[in-house]
Amino acid sequence: MTAEGHLLFALATAVAAKRYDLTPIISTADWWHLIPACLLTSLLPDIDHPKSLLGQRLRWISLPISRIVGHRGFTHSLIAVLIGVFLLLNKLPTNLFIPSDVIQGMVLGYLSHILADMLTPAGVPLLWPCRWRFRLPILPSSKHPQPERYFCIALLTFTVLTPESLTKQWITVGSQQMNQTWQQWSPLLWRFPR
Ligand SMILES: [Zn+2]
Repeated sequence: MTAEGHLLFALATAVAAKRYDLTPIISTADWWHLIPACLLTSLLPDIDHPKSLLGQRLRWISLPISRIVGHRGFTHSLIAVLIGVFLLLNKLPTNLFIPSDVIQGMVLGYLSHILADMLTPAGVPLLWPCRWRFRLPILPSSKHPQPERYFCIALLTFTVLTPESLTKQWITVGSQQMNQTWQQWSPLLWRFPR
């Protein structure tokens, strides 16, 4: 996905996360904390590509990372998210205070990048160093940026304009359906020979 696509997708993710109360901290977050924090980290995973927007500006970091782990490797995995959260919570200078809504916004921005890349044919190695690639390729590769631009703009428009009550109703109905399906199928799963 292009940098423009990632920024739009991160914006849509931040709006959706706050409007639909993803976490108690995000639901009460200051927009001026949440949006910049989310945008700030939404391009960070592509530091592993020297030709990416961030990679071109920070080649001294980007080149070694791309040589060691390659593009869409370690930086696009859950382990990178966990290490990032650990560093944010434990390794910052004690005199540097970062509000919790900024920290959660940064994590959200990073996750939004990984999620957006999952929508492309190349997918992401979520469980790196395991080589499985997770994908739901509803978008073409970034060689054809037009469909992803329309998709991200539509997603952003949807998250901003859809009435909150309506979406919350869909989420409630969807989770009830999933629960019912789980209740019906889980006894069969336990009986499946292992
Ligand atoms: Zn990426």
